[in-house]
Amino acid sequence: MARAFTEDQLVIATHNPGKLREISDLLTPFGVAVTSAGDLGLPEPVEDGDSFKANALIKARAAADASGLPALADDSGLAVDALGGAPGIHSARWAGPEKDFNEAMARVWELVLESEDRRAHFVCALALAWPDGTSEVFEGRVDGDIVWPPTGDKGFGYDPIFQPEGYFITFAEMEPAAKHHISHRAHAFEQLVAACFKGRG
Ligand code: IMP
Repeated sequence: MARAFTEDQLVIATHNPGKLREISDLLTPFGVAVTSAGDLGLPEPVEDGDSFKANALIKARAAADASGLPALADDSGLAVDALGGAPGIHSARWAGPEKDFNEAMARVWELVLESEDRRAHFVCALALAWPDGTSEVFEGRVDGDIVWPPTGDKGFGYDPIFQPEGYFITFAEMEPAAKHHISHRAHAFEQLVAACFKGRG
């Protein structure tokens, strides 16, 4: 059985404002005060795990140890079928040190163009770690297609080129509340809530 989250305060182990906004929105109903690793000035650990789950745990553990508070981390990315799952756990790195997602999206499209297969999915692993060394981890995904040109100015990262299955607009054209219903992050979050936040909110 998963450990219940009974505390009132949680560190969101991210320096990414897009993720912080989405995770804070998802946590709103549960009455948890959130601070981010960025706000606390915590260093970013080296993400050298070989899976989304491993990297989420590395980030959550580092923030929980450094802050003495429970910490929630998200490791996520875009996996493109025609590219054998790339950029995958390297999704942030494809944008380079300047975090230029226009360049990263163009790189994805250039490679996808050579194939008929436009299928892709986003994956999100959420890890919740406590300062005493325990942790829980959950994973969600959402399937869709890579589309071009990039469309929409909401969301972040690769949202402008990802069209979720059953929709004719990209994640970047969707209202945040609509994305929160169907996204990889929402699916991971549902599992986290069912396992650790039952009876709250
Ligand atoms: P990391 O988990 O911090 O290593 O970075 C994951 C990267 O994947 C982000 O910087 C985004 O580029 C991409 N990503 C993850 N989730 C989303 C999403 O919901 N929309 C668009 N891009 C995402």
